[in-house]
This record gives sequence, C-alpha cells and structure tokens, in this order.
Amino acid sequence: MSNIKKIQHKLKKIYPKIKVDEKDECVHLTGELDRWEDIVSLGQAAVSKDFVGVLNDVKLKNFVEPDIRQSAINDKKYDGSNLDVLIIGGGVVGCAALRELTRYDLKVALAEKESDVACAASGRNDGAVHVGIDLHGKSKKLSYLMRANPLYENLSKELDFKFERTGQYIAFSSWKYLVVGYLLLKSRAKRNGIKGMKFISGKKLKQHSPNINPKTKFAFFYPSGGSVCPYGMTIAFADNAVFNGGQVWLNTCVTGMTVENGKIISVQTNRGEVFPKVVINAAGVYADKIAEMANDRFYTIHPRRGTNSILDKSSVEHYGKLSISMYGNHKSNAKLHTKGGGVVSTVDGNLLIGPDAVETPLREEMATTAKSVNTVVDRQQDILPKLSARDIITYFTGVRASTYEEDFVIQMGRKTKNFVHAAGIQSPGLSAAPVIAQDVSDLTVKYLEQFSPVVKNSNFNPVRKGVTELRNLTLAQRDELIKKNPDYGEIVCRCEEISKGEIIDALNLPLKVDTVDAIKRRTRAGMGRCQGGFCQPRVLKIIAETVNKDYSDINKKGDGKIILGKTKGEE
Ligand SMILES: Cc1cc2nc3c(=O)[nH]c(=O)nc-3n(C[C@H](O)[C@H](O)[C@H](O)COP(=O)(O)OP(=O)(O)OC[C@H]3O[C@@H](n4cnc5c(N)ncnc54)[C@H](O)[C@@H]3O)c2cc1C
Repeated sequence: MSNIKKIQHKLKKIYPKIKVDEKDECVHLTGELDRWEDIVSLGQAAVSKDFVGVLNDVKLKNFVEPDIRQSAINDKKYDGSNLDVLIIGGGVVGCAALRELTRYDLKVALAEKESDVACAASGRNDGAVHVGIDLHGKSKKLSYLMRANPLYENLSKELDFKFERTGQYIAFSSWKYLVVGYLLLKSRAKRNGIKGMKFISGKKLKQHSPNINPKTKFAFFYPSGGSVCPYGMTIAFADNAVFNGGQVWLNTCVTGMTVENGKIISVQTNRGEVFPKVVINAAGVYADKIAEMANDRFYTIHPRRGTNSILDKSSVEHYGKLSISMYGNHKSNAKLHTKGGGVVSTVDGNLLIGPDAVETPLREEMATTAKSVNTVVDRQQDILPKLSARDIITYFTGVRASTYEEDFVIQMGRKTKNFVHAAGIQSPGLSAAPVIAQDVSDLTVKYLEQFSPVVKNSNFNPVRKGVTELRNLTLAQRDELIKKNPDYGEIVCRCEEISKGEIIDALNLPLKVDTVDAIKRRTRAGMGRCQGGFCQPRVLKIIAETVNKDYSDINKKGDGKIILGKTKGEE
C-alpha cells in the first residue's frame, strides 16, 4: 500500500466524509466537519513521517473565519520601498531576527500589524526560560532551547531586560511516583543534555515555601530554569535593532504577495507595496497564511489558547518565590510532561499561574473567559491549596501557533527561494527565540550572498539601555537622579512606583510608541493592584505632552479607541 493510501485507510475509519490526498509532498485534508475538536484530532491523526507536513483545509460547519485584525490606517507610507529583507511579525522571533540582521550592512524592515511589538504570544506568555525536560529528544524545539538557555545571563545584561535564573521544580504528591519519576526524568535529563537535576525532599520544599500543598512528598529541581520579562525582552531586541539601523513599521499588515517563478517579487501591505529581496515569515498564528501567500505552505497552524493569571505581589510572601509544577494529585493529569503549566515566579516579583490549553478556530481570540481563569486556579490549587481567585490582580490570554507536527519550522522555502520560515513557534519559542533569530539571519545572509557579498555593519552596537527603574534604586541614588531631573520625583503610578521621568524615558527609547499600553509594557505603569485606575489619565497626558499630540488623540492600544474625549465646549 502506498504511503498516502495507508493514511487514507486510517482516517477513513474515523472520518469517512473527509477527502485525503497528497499535495506538494504533504497530506492534504478537505471536507467539512461539525466540531473544531474533530478537525484538530483529524489533523493530528494525519501526521506521518513519510510526508513533509499536514495541510488541513477541512472547514468547520457554519463558521466563517474572521478577517485578520489590522489597523484602520490605509496610506502609502512605505509604497515603493526597496529592501534587502522584510520580516513579517513583531513578536520576539521577528524582533530578535531584525536585531541579528542589523549586524550586517543591509536594509531591513519589520512589518507588524499592531501598534507595538509583543502584542501577540510574545507579550502573553509565562515568561519561563524552560529547562527542556518535557521535550522530545529529536525535536527542533529541544535543540533550539538547549542552545538558547545558557545565553540568557549575557543577553539580558547586554540588552537590559529582566531575567532571573530561578530554577524549576517538578513536585509529586505521591511516593508511588518516586522510582518511575526519578528513572524517567533522569534518563530524559541525560538524553536532553540537562545538567544539575537534584532530588528535593518535601520537607525541604516546605521550608522554602511553607504554604505549598502539605501532601507534597518530593520534587526534582532543575537549576537551568529561568524567568524573563517576555515583552521586555521583545522590546529590547526591537530597540537595539532600531538603534542599529533596522526599521520597525508598526500598524503595517502584510495582505498579499506577488510570486513569480518561485520568487517573491513584491509584498502588499495596508501602507503600500514593497520590494524585498528576502521575506522572513515570523507571523505567529498567521504563519501558514503568510506561507500560502508566498506559495510555500507545507504546514497548518491550529491555534491553541492559554490563559494565565497574575497574583498580587503579597502572594510571594505567602507562598514563597518558586517556579513549580505538580504531578500525581487528583486534579492534575499524571503525565510527566510540562513546560509552562504551574506556578511561575515572575521577574517583577509576582506569581503567575497557568496556562490552560484550549483549541480554537479563532487565531486572535485573546479575550479571557471565567472558565479558563477558574480552571487554572483549580488546577494550581494542587500546588498552593490556599490559592484563591481573590489573589488575582489580572489575567490574560495568548494564542499558541501550533502546527500538527508540534515542532518549530525554521528553514528556507521549499518552493519559493527567497522566503524563510520561522513558523510553528509555540512554547518554548520565547526561550529559544535568540537562537531561532541567529539561524534565520544566517539563512537569509547565505541566500543574499549568492548574488553579492554581505558586509558586516562595523557600527553595530549590541548594547541597549532600557528605562532606569527608580523603585530598584537606593534612596541616595534616587535623590541624585531627582536633583538632576525633578520628573523622577513625581510618582505617577503609585502601585508600581513609576515616575513621570521614567514614562518620558520610555517615550524616548529608539522604537517610538505613543499608546498607554505601550508605555505600560515599558515601565509597568498601570500593572499594579489598581490596574491603571488611578494613573492611566496621567500617563495619557504625559504621553500627549511629550509627543506633542492632543490628549484626545492618544489611544490605549492604537486601535483608534480614545480614552479621554473632549468635554463639551473644549477645543
Ligand atoms: C499562554 C502561553 C504561554 C507560553 N509560555 C511560554 C513560556 O513560558 N516560555 C516559552 O519559551 N514560550 C512560551 N510560550 C510560547 C511563546 O510565547 C511563543 O513561542 C513566542 O512568543 C512566539 O513568538 P513569535 O514571534 O513567533 O510570534 P508572536 O509573538 O505571535 O508574533 C507574531 C506577530 O506577527 C504579527 N502578524 C501576524 N500576521 C501579520 C501580518 N499579516 N502582517 C504583519 N504582522 C503580522 C502579529 O501581530 C504578531 O505580533 C507561551 C505561549 C502562550 C500562548
């Protein structure tokens, strides 16, 4: 039986109405089903080593996929631009790739459809720098993670973003897992190259975190786990790239491509048609749509939502500072695989709980449901039994860009020569991004070198300085700064102790942004207990004064929704 016949035979039994054939060395699925879960299960069942990927074009009955969310701007700002490289997507991968490419004398731009970078998965995740214990030995995820994990100390210093080598615990609530857990995790650690695994008794863990589940019997500790500020890191890459000559085109959505003889000739956006020599696809949940535009699709993204909640800072005093997941209790499944699920100690001194995992046909469904918040609280009570929804100060949802093969796709186009894929970048994509970017940059440079030499940028400066955080300085240091600039003495966000001076510094970073949410991501103004209730109008007015705009023109997110309108009679 031929390879496709075997798959047809297998799938026909479960989904008799679905057509299964071979297209471009991929398994191609077409037809219609009533439930999204079935479409996802079908895609998963179609994965085969004999094929490059799964093209799941099965439609969900009575469902019309919404258009890509994009800015209302429609102008010709970038029309006719000739570029060496166009990167699509301003998540952590796109921004890190932009920075890598500014090491060369190249004209590179990044098109991001939102009004800031890190608006999608890169700003909506756990911020865990993973250990890799759950990953398949032969996966790209593992090899990228293992190369990236040790880079974080240097990178965070160089680019001034927050990172802590917290380590990670995997805890168990039953002794019956001791032998099997130890043998399995030890052999995985050996296979995956993870060093320093340690046995920790339940007693010792309780000394560290007295309110941890008293049923905890033992844990394993992995010192290579870490915690990073995900949007801080993404912004840092973007800032350093802009400083070194890269361009970030915000509010710029890629809507189409002209491809001739296996080559992208031009790319259409809401801000004009542009002419890059190479296109990099770092479009997250839209990566398969972009690949389709480039006539080079060999995977399908099936979006998977995940909700996290952030606990008040006082919860660290109560529960202890720890990044941990728990196995063996009635609420958790007893499978020995985890990355982000559990409790994560964030670099800003909060605890984060989550995420859950919900398949969805909606690529940009980032609204948080009560069901997801409650599921996460319920599950993490395995670890912290006293945890209550009242500890939560905010929650958010991100969407993972999973392929059916559940691995990263990092390679040159198969049919389209001047196209680079950085797709399927789900967890541990944040952790792995620095080296994904290196490889994407190397592939791009290698392609360009076929036509003319690519010269190093002799002015490249890898160092970036972020906003100085006054709350982390001594009183004497603060005093000195306030004497030089009284704006540092004017506290705007009382919960997080953010001064006017810091907000102005954020507005003066290399990547220019002027929305309230963008300033929040750069300074934490509005991220505390009151969630901006007090400081938002003041932040807005400082933005307006600094960028010389009317305050009624300053938006929360850049979606045209104003926060402070004019009152009657105001000009
Ligand atoms: C809930 C959750 C928890 C996670 N936890 C972790 C973790 O703890 N550790 C870890 O390592 N990883 C984690 N991840 C995974 C990690 O967040 C992602 O792997 C990573 O952020 C992917 O980055 P990216 O740049 O590929 O994609 P994204 O951040 O999604 O960026 C893609 C960008 O492309 C833009 N775009 C799309 N289409 C277009 C277009 N047509 N034109 C212009 N722009 C476009 C989008 O607006 C978006 O900004 C988590 C993910 C989720 C959802």
